[in-house]
Amino acid sequence: MHNELNDLYQELILDHKRHPRNFRDMPDATRAVDGHNPLCGDQLRIYVRLHEGLIEDVSFLGAGCAISIASASMLTEALKGQSIETAQALFGQMHDMLTNDQSTVDPGSLGKLGVLSGVRDYPSRVKCASLCWHTLKAALDGDKDTISTE
Ligand code: ZN
Repeated sequence: MHNELNDLYQELILDHKRHPRNFRDMPDATRAVDGHNPLCGDQLRIYVRLHEGLIEDVSFLGAGCAISIASASMLTEALKGQSIETAQALFGQMHDMLTNDQSTVDPGSLGKLGVLSGVRDYPSRVKCASLCWHTLKAALDGDKDTISTE
């Protein structure tokens, strides 16, 4: 990884781990899903309030490694107020960027979320970064209350 991207990556991960955004319960959530990454022990609960095709609010609670918390924090920042359609498309792009060596997704087009492309160099951390996205996807699809990355 290029050093500059590496610095930005470290800085963003640490900042979001220390001060997670939207780290709170949501009493009026329309859906809440628990996500678990047994490989690392990361445990997240993602809350969404959906209304007329929009994610009016999104928040999370949980405990885990810096990458899992930072990734969830960045997810909430990126998706609050977005359409469900946009969120589903972003899930697809993030999943491809994180798991596909031949990914054609340009990390630069994803804003802050793009720095997470750095975890592709550390296969054991990919599930830490993608846990929140799989949990969010289940919340949007409404088909499961819990998910596990295994
Ligand atoms: Zn982790």
